[in-house]
Amino acid sequence: MSDCVFCKIIAGEIPSRKVYEDDRILAFYDLEPQAPVHVLIVPKEHIGCADELDEENSAVVGYIFSKIPEIAASLKLTGGYRVVNNCREDGGQSVFHLHFHLLGGKKLGLDMA
Ligand code: AMP
Repeated sequence: MSDCVFCKIIAGEIPSRKVYEDDRILAFYDLEPQAPVHVLIVPKEHIGCADELDEENSAVVGYIFSKIPEIAASLKLTGGYRVVNNCREDGGQSVFHLHFHLLGGKKLGLDMA
């Protein structure tokens, strides 16, 4: 999508601090970290949000989760971490390209909402 910030990051048109990349996904540091370690993991295919997942395009979500242990280990998140997805307005989504926040580096609070 031409006006999508994360598509531009994937295309290299906007710089990012990359943590992991392969042909299907990219992980990079969040610009405004909310924890000592705050990384975003995105599919390279543009999917707007969790609400747009279906049987055709959702395999990449499993793939992302299969890579999270490796990404977390590379970030030395040995004590654990949190994975968050915000979906649309009520979920607090601000960038409409499916992404998972990987948060850690301290004992996180328990507030979920
Ligand atoms: P969400 O609110 O779940 O849509 O999360 C979007 C996240 O993207 C926020 O945490 C922003 O800080 C982050 N963000 C927005 N633009 C950039 C960027 N150019 N590079 C890195 N992170 C970004």
